[in-house]
Amino acid sequence: MSTERSSFGSLVFGDAAMKQYLAPEVYEKIQKTIKNGKHLDTDIANDVADGMKNWAIEKGATHFTHWFQPLNGVTAEKHDSFICTTADGDVIYKFSGRELIKGEGDASSLPSGGLRATFEARGYTAWDATSYAFVKGRVLCIPTAFCSYDGSSLDNKTPLLRSMEKISKAALRVLKLFGNGKTSCVRTTVGAEQEYFLIPEELFVKRKDLIYTGRTLFGARPPKGQELDDHYYGSIKPRVASFMTDVNNELWALGVPAKTEHNEAAPAQHELAPIFTTSNIAADQNQLTMEILKNVARRHGLVCLLHEKPFDGVNGSGKHNNWSMSTDDGVNLLEPGETPAENAQFLLFLTAIVSAVDEYPELIRISVAGAGNDHRLGGNEAPPAIISVFLGDEITGVLDAIEENRPYSSHEKELLRVGVHTMPKIPRDTTDRNRTSPIAFTGNKFEFRIPGAPASISSVNTVINTTVASKLNEYADILEGSDNFADDLHQLIRDEISAHRRIIFNGNCYSAQWREEAEKRGLSNLPSTPEALAHMLDEKNVRLFTEMGIFTRAELVSRREIMLENYCKLICIEGLTMVDMARRQIIPAVNSFRRSLIPAETAYEREISLKLASLSDKAFSLVKKLERNVEGARALSPQDGADYCLNDVIPVMNELRSVCDGAELLTPESFWPFPNYGDLMFGI
Ligand code: ADP
Ligand code: MG
Repeated sequence: MSTERSSFGSLVFGDAAMKQYLAPEVYEKIQKTIKNGKHLDTDIANDVADGMKNWAIEKGATHFTHWFQPLNGVTAEKHDSFICTTADGDVIYKFSGRELIKGEGDASSLPSGGLRATFEARGYTAWDATSYAFVKGRVLCIPTAFCSYDGSSLDNKTPLLRSMEKISKAALRVLKLFGNGKTSCVRTTVGAEQEYFLIPEELFVKRKDLIYTGRTLFGARPPKGQELDDHYYGSIKPRVASFMTDVNNELWALGVPAKTEHNEAAPAQHELAPIFTTSNIAADQNQLTMEILKNVARRHGLVCLLHEKPFDGVNGSGKHNNWSMSTDDGVNLLEPGETPAENAQFLLFLTAIVSAVDEYPELIRISVAGAGNDHRLGGNEAPPAIISVFLGDEITGVLDAIEENRPYSSHEKELLRVGVHTMPKIPRDTTDRNRTSPIAFTGNKFEFRIPGAPASISSVNTVINTTVASKLNEYADILEGSDNFADDLHQLIRDEISAHRRIIFNGNCYSAQWREEAEKRGLSNLPSTPEALAHMLDEKNVRLFTEMGIFTRAELVSRREIMLENYCKLICIEGLTMVDMARRQIIPAVNSFRRSLIPAETAYEREISLKLASLSDKAFSLVKKLERNVEGARALSPQDGADYCLNDVIPVMNELRSVCDGAELLTPESFWPFPNYGDLMFGI
């Protein structure tokens, strides 16, 4: 694609294209489907498919694909061309309603965690009509859900869609209690801020660790890192600016409203944020964004690293998941209101979220778990693995006053009562933004800061939606039967705040005092993926998901299995990459330099050659140990293998790295076998 600007959404089969390419009655029907989030009527499927195909061909498409998100975290596509032969041997372009709605593929190599036996290995894909189709290159992409023969979900989209339906229903029950009977659907909205690194491609290709694992496994720290804070929000270099221009143009054409871009804290680190949208669409758009960042980078002779921790010693990359709920007419339910009644409603929704987090912190941690993110959480650069909620002093003050049965401020005489006239206006938070909290209320939305940069945001949003939906249902059950709504509402909020106030923390989450304090409060702290996944099948978690109809027990078991396997495989790949680099690159380089010092005549030559000999011996013995331990991990079951990686592979990797990084500092650059940290981070 060229750098010339195409108009916003020009490659999306959105409203304008539908109007133009579909007959009016077909257009009406599909609009209804999209608005209500229902399945497409089969009687219009052929017409929709035909219109979509004609539009796509004009945009240069020759193929179509059901574009879906299997459990390996990336997006998958299998292309079919529109070409068809007729009975008399002519070739025509055809795309049927059946092909649009449902695809079938022998996707037997995609992870299923044992949900599919090979004899029924087929996966089925079904169009998510609420997320627009788009043309990418020469392919019409149809966003779809992916399930197995018996309907078990095998992807990230299906549970997200299920959870959106549940939270909508639950929120409608609550809105009704406040006299709102006109809203017909509540949408969860998400804006995902994406962090990434850019490095020169010619350096990337010289490092096996970057090629195989997306992060550096070796590398001594350069004299300069991010300590001067001179990169954050700094002026953007021309080469990076030109990359960003191309990224924006491609995203805009695909209907992704990329909005802000800036340099991030670490050298070579940047961020892109879109305007928020409905969560399933935001999830699709974020997948596209990651793909486009990577592809455009290559065209600019750069490589985009999306790993959570590409470089030791500087910040890693996360993905801030800004989350809120809004009615179908666009009212943000987390916006403090103008009237006491609106504020009572706001407080109830807020309370539901705070309580949901306190009841299911392990699920939130699990939804962002993975080998890469373990490096980030708790490294004093990203929130710790301790789950807590930041509300700011103002809102916390309101909640305190309710809980303690006292006036909100010293100027007021009356006790704070929810839902009656005396309730004060809830002020916008005036405190400084707290950047250390994993979950922060930021005025009219919650910002979940724990997802890692490469993650699909579907998992974290599925968990938020499901847990909040369950709390809202619980509240509706209590309040629907009430004959004194104001009193019961007040009491409910009070009880919930008392029960869950331990999760609220407005201080510095990076501090050692917080770790101690959180332990006293009994908060969940699961630093590693295997420790987090050990809780996935806890009784309350299984009950939540099965009762809410999001996952069956079998689906949960399979997902856990896949996550453990992924963890183990990733660590083993990292381990073997280190073995390879150390044995075939680093140790030989160190030894050739050491030999060049012999006969050692100066103090420098004598001292360095001795030191290098000792480091080389240590490295060599660690290489052998690491290789053995990787083999050991691979022979075990998923949970045991993951535990073994955590306890017996990662520590050896760390030891080997430290020895090799020590050797790097003593070896001239001309002998070192691959580009160093300084080159990589300051190379653009
Ligand atoms: P900041 O830049 O201070 O972090 P912004 O207001 O720019 O905050 O928002 C950051 C992200 O949050 C953007 O992607 C934005 O679109 C998103 N966002 C804003 N409002 C909402 C909302 N109601 N629901 C979900 N995301 C939102
Ligand atoms: Mg942010």
